[in-house]
Amino acid sequence: MMEWTQTMTNEIPILILGSGISGLIAAYYLSQHGVGEPVVLDKGTVAGGRLATCHFAGGVFDYGAPFFSARHPDFKAVVQEWLERGIIKLWYSHTEREMESPRYCGVSGMEAIPNYLASHFRVKQQISISHIYQIDQHWELEDEQGTYYATSNLILTPPVSQSLHLLNRGGFRLLLSRRALLESIHYHPCLVVLARLSEPSHLPAPGVLLRPHPLIAWMGDNQQKGISTVPAVTLYATPEFSARFYDASDRHIADQLLNAVRPLLGVDVEAWHIKRWRYSLPQQTFQGRCFVASESPKLILAGDAFGSSRVEGAVLSGLAAAKRMLENV
Ligand SMILES: Cc1cc2nc3c(=O)[nH]c(=O)nc-3n(C[C@H](O)[C@H](O)[C@H](O)COP(=O)(O)OP(=O)(O)OC[C@H]3O[C@@H](n4cnc5c(N)ncnc54)[C@H](O)[C@@H]3O)c2cc1C
Repeated sequence: MMEWTQTMTNEIPILILGSGISGLIAAYYLSQHGVGEPVVLDKGTVAGGRLATCHFAGGVFDYGAPFFSARHPDFKAVVQEWLERGIIKLWYSHTEREMESPRYCGVSGMEAIPNYLASHFRVKQQISISHIYQIDQHWELEDEQGTYYATSNLILTPPVSQSLHLLNRGGFRLLLSRRALLESIHYHPCLVVLARLSEPSHLPAPGVLLRPHPLIAWMGDNQQKGISTVPAVTLYATPEFSARFYDASDRHIADQLLNAVRPLLGVDVEAWHIKRWRYSLPQQTFQGRCFVASESPKLILAGDAFGSSRVEGAVLSGLAAAKRMLENV
């Protein structure tokens, strides 16, 4: 395995920015197809990006994507592999009101998926890239500490506006028509409340409520889901509420959202915590599953804004980027 030094500029054969599900599945695919060890860099403390689980007040809470479904045959094949390896499980396929397509979740929380994938190759967390430069036939990524990472094969998976920002700061300009399309992709913010309850919630099985209140988009019971041994509920505010109160105090956000659902919970909230996502779901998507911004040196943009959104779209995009990368490695 490669060791990092303060000013490393050794060539990395394939570099992937972002240890969200799209970056991890791309790295997994490349590592399974024998093209050397891809390297993944991410600014977060743990792998997963918007697949996130945390421990709070004795409870376990998913607070990014709480579940996912699978429609495309390629993603169904991935889901089947995860099921067979015991990484994910079926959460539910119907609610009190209606039949739904199967909803899957990580066995110990959604973090189980990135943890599994990231065990197959080198993932370097807490590396925040600030600039991406094109130097002749190479990309050079500079992080906040002034360390450089060089590659001629780069996949970028941050939310599109963040990827464009890094390229802009390094002076790289996309073709105007493409740039305008990519710049038009915006994301909804999402405010999330983690609520540790005094007793099990009164949510009906399987522990989910869609739009239970005008301020709440979705709420889910992590105890009924089987990832928390103690009562723990996650509330997701609507995009409208989240945009309006994104910078409000935690107390103000919690008061409004918890008051809204108190009758539905039926029990006391012992402790709460607020999480903020500036980028939760893309408001529109780019037509292709990934975007090749440069052939040589290779630069591919991928993630849940390409093709279709959500976990499924992110996985399909990561796979598409990996396959495009294989064409010339
Ligand atoms: C609140 C919420 C609810 C959701 N609900 C659902 C749902 O019910 N079902 C569903 O299927 N999907 C849902 N989603 C969407 C799903 O989580 C995403 O579509 C998917 O996880 C996106 O994966 P990604 O790899 O494209 O992006 P991300 O997971 O965002 O990964 C990008 C990574 O890039 C890293 N990064 C960014 N900039 C830099 C930088 N400068 N330097 C280093 N690293 C950087 C980030 O740290 C991040 O880890 C939800 C998301 C949220 C937030």
